[in-house]
Amino acid sequence: MCTGCGDFFEEKEDKLHDECGVVGIFLNKGKAAGGSKADGKTADGGAEAGSSNAGGSDGAGGKTAAEDYGAYSTTDFNAATQAYYALFSLQHRGQDSAGIAVSDGTALSVHKAMGTVSEVFSAENLTALKGHIACGHVRYATAGSASLENAQPMVMNSRLGGIAVAHNGQLVNYEQLREMLEETGSTFASSSDTEVIVKLIAKSYKKGLERALTDTIQMIKGSFALVVMTEKCLIGARDPNGIRPLCLGKVNGGWILASESCAIDSVNGTFVRDIQPGEIVIINEDGVLSFEFGERTSKRTCIFEYVYFARPDSNIDGIPVTEARLRMGACLARESAVPADVVVGVPDSGLGAAQGYAQEAGIPNASGIIKNKYIGRTFIAPTQRERENLVFVKLNAVRSVIRGKRVVVIDDSIVRGTTSKRLVQILRRAGAKEVHFRISSPPVKFPCYFGINTPTRGELISSRHTAEEICKEIGADTLAFISAEGMIDACRSCNPDQYGFCKGCFTGEYPMSVPGELNGKRL
Ligand code: SF4
Repeated sequence: MCTGCGDFFEEKEDKLHDECGVVGIFLNKGKAAGGSKADGKTADGGAEAGSSNAGGSDGAGGKTAAEDYGAYSTTDFNAATQAYYALFSLQHRGQDSAGIAVSDGTALSVHKAMGTVSEVFSAENLTALKGHIACGHVRYATAGSASLENAQPMVMNSRLGGIAVAHNGQLVNYEQLREMLEETGSTFASSSDTEVIVKLIAKSYKKGLERALTDTIQMIKGSFALVVMTEKCLIGARDPNGIRPLCLGKVNGGWILASESCAIDSVNGTFVRDIQPGEIVIINEDGVLSFEFGERTSKRTCIFEYVYFARPDSNIDGIPVTEARLRMGACLARESAVPADVVVGVPDSGLGAAQGYAQEAGIPNASGIIKNKYIGRTFIAPTQRERENLVFVKLNAVRSVIRGKRVVVIDDSIVRGTTSKRLVQILRRAGAKEVHFRISSPPVKFPCYFGINTPTRGELISSRHTAEEICKEIGADTLAFISAEGMIDACRSCNPDQYGFCKGCFTGEYPMSVPGELNGKRL
């Protein structure tokens, strides 16, 4: 959805969107990155079950990453610049606003604005952000509108100190908490659920940071991957189900927290491990302190991260995203093979599954659909009809690949069905003899309450129609979705230790109770 441009440009995007990406940078001032305390764990617990190795860290028996990076002086590195690079690599997670807050050890400063990372930051405003700790955010608006007051990080200064919060996820008890806070005198400047987190932390701050965090985290329900910064330290926390991803890496003698491991790679860092569900890490000059909050609950990573949201070069909870997509494609080929001449993926997230399908089915995989990468938020499409036809500008078929062929086209999901319909038209226009649509996720029938912008059930084509009906509606020769079991097996086979996924938008079964819908409107 093109938000922030007013009704004039608004289009109903036929994809699910992730809410945002978060990063945190802590650079030790001229000190090597050390080990950690608490629970007897080392922070670089890469050997822990379920951790992945996206950044090419040393294997068992080798030198530790801390030793490697210990030789670097950090005086040449600015935390804001590192956060900027990391946010750039997370741009796919949100383009509504971007922001970085920094601390120089005594005070916090922030720069944030509407737009993409390159639109928001100039050399001047980045240089002005001086400090060795940074907290950054890119936002796609779900809870709260796309406006500057909802942009993050949210910063609050009190006489006890400053706090900056960057949040990926969505609170399911936001309304109740906001009401409670308002009744006790809090006032709100935004409509974002993140401000509730900031206010809750601030309310208990006098009890000490650790206590304020655990008190807050025990009150909030829903999905959250949090990066919090004070004048002296950086904190990461992941909700008890680990719905939204968050990982830890080493960078330039310090530490990085990020939504995806590709952000760690972008600053030439070394992946250490995923933050565990229900874990808080506090990073300061002494290293990384890790502790758990509240009761242990089962891991429920959002399975859509693997299907669509995450970058293909990221690893989430020990599962390489590209590998998961290849296996989903292979499963789709086993479940719904069809005689065909060529397999083409819909860029970008359908490409991995298309490769997997083609390998499994023994059919050539070709680059038959091209995506225009330069359509940004401000693309002009004034009328509904023009908005519906935007896909013709975004995607085009390669005639020499498609003409006269029986084509299997692989996409990651069908939400409203409008894109699929246009894609079939594009392929037929390019001369396809047959068009067989294959989808590497099961039918999306239910909304998401954990930070993904899904339409209401009434707008989800699969909640109202069978696959046969949708096939007819989009004009394909055949249509098949991967089974929920096939999708889960494809991910689980990449890492059997990753045992749990949220799949609520496919099954309607969520990891916790959710507000639901009333009269077709989400509550
Ligand atoms: S409901 Fe769907 S999109 Fe939302 S967290 Fe669960 S799997 Fe992900």
